[in-house]
Amino acid sequence: MNSGLRREIINLVASGIFILILGALTGYTLELLIAGLTGYIAWHLYNLSKLIRWLSKPTKALPESIGIWDELYYQIYHLYQRQRKARKKLKTIADRFRNTTQALPIAAIALNKSNEIEWFNQAAERIFNLQHATDVGNRINNLIRKPAFTNYIMEKDFQEIIELEFNHRQLSICITPYGHDQFLLTATDITQQRQLDDMRRDFVANASHELRTPLTVISGFVEALCDQADSKIKTPLEKIRQQTVRMQQIMEDLVILARLESRLAPLLHDRVDLEELVQQIYNDAVMIDHDRHEIILSTQPASIMGNSVELQMAITNLVTNAIRYTPENGTITLFVSVDNDGVHVGVEDNGIGIMPEHIGRLTERFYRVDPGRSREQGGTGLGLAIVKHVLDRHDASLHVHSVPGEGSLFRCDFELFEQEKEEKAA
Ligand code: ADP
Repeated sequence: MNSGLRREIINLVASGIFILILGALTGYTLELLIAGLTGYIAWHLYNLSKLIRWLSKPTKALPESIGIWDELYYQIYHLYQRQRKARKKLKTIADRFRNTTQALPIAAIALNKSNEIEWFNQAAERIFNLQHATDVGNRINNLIRKPAFTNYIMEKDFQEIIELEFNHRQLSICITPYGHDQFLLTATDITQQRQLDDMRRDFVANASHELRTPLTVISGFVEALCDQADSKIKTPLEKIRQQTVRMQQIMEDLVILARLESRLAPLLHDRVDLEELVQQIYNDAVMIDHDRHEIILSTQPASIMGNSVELQMAITNLVTNAIRYTPENGTITLFVSVDNDGVHVGVEDNGIGIMPEHIGRLTERFYRVDPGRSREQGGTGLGLAIVKHVLDRHDASLHVHSVPGEGSLFRCDFELFEQEKEEKAA
């Protein structure tokens, strides 16, 4: 028990005993008790009123008293001091946070659960032309009137970042839930970055395109020279021919990549019969392989919405790689399968395999595990980069599993059609 309270109880009991003794001596026990209690209550009421007065203006000096009230004033005062310090600290943190977010080059907008704007920083003011007086309380989808953004905010699946054009700027927008049903929208102006990307892509596409014609001419002449050359210069001419062919292949792949990367290139959405497509790829693979491997085809009926030309190119790249990186007499399996996760198209081989540290980087342009071997086999180092771009355009992903010395699996995972999901469920 608190020492102040203990002292108060002892005083109260002592006073009670004193009153009882005095009452027994004088014969006025009840009157003395009532008078004592009235005095005690009056003293408490007086102190209570002093406390209420002080609480209404706590900056004033602390009232003085005795006994339990002195202790009470002391405790309340300390509590008040602690709270003042904590409030001051919190205010400093909040000010610092506000200043930092105001200085951020990224637009930040706090939204409530009804998507109404609660707060925004200077960058948001600049990027979205926001004004505190008129826009706080407005719904964000009344401000950013783009179907892609409306879907994004309505579906509330904020795992993804979306890119959209607003006021002639290219923006990358992300929403992060925080606190209780609150959301922080952040937008980064990526206009410059996109312009640089476009310039780089256009440069590569134009340079590759421009180099195609002279290369075709050179390769034509070299071929003609090869046919007529005597044995002395035949070997160097043959080497020149091989290198020109290689350069032509690289140019072709660079042009394909640039086209796939172009945001202007729309993806044609046809219904693609994967079983039929993979059968064609299998036939071509058997032809170019000249019986060096055992090529197995295993398919299930499946179709997806997509671009058959791009899909054929991607799957062909996987098969070509399997042929390149599987020693003679190895086995290559080309498959199409369907399960609850979606449609899978892939190539499995029992070739040289890949060390785990390379797997995450295989889809980078010109990334090769063994550049010498790749060149020797006619690889351009761009095959898997093309596969990745094609899959991105189909909202699909590439799964790679490989064990060095045992083989590799390259699998393209596509989502099931809504219609097919229903058919499966039925
Ligand atoms: P490349 O034209 O060199 O084959 P890719 O982009 O198609 O370029 O592949 C990148 C690298 O990935 C290859 O150089 C090779 O090292 C590795 N790779 C691809 N497919 C296979 C495979 N089936 N088995 C082993 N390694 C592979």
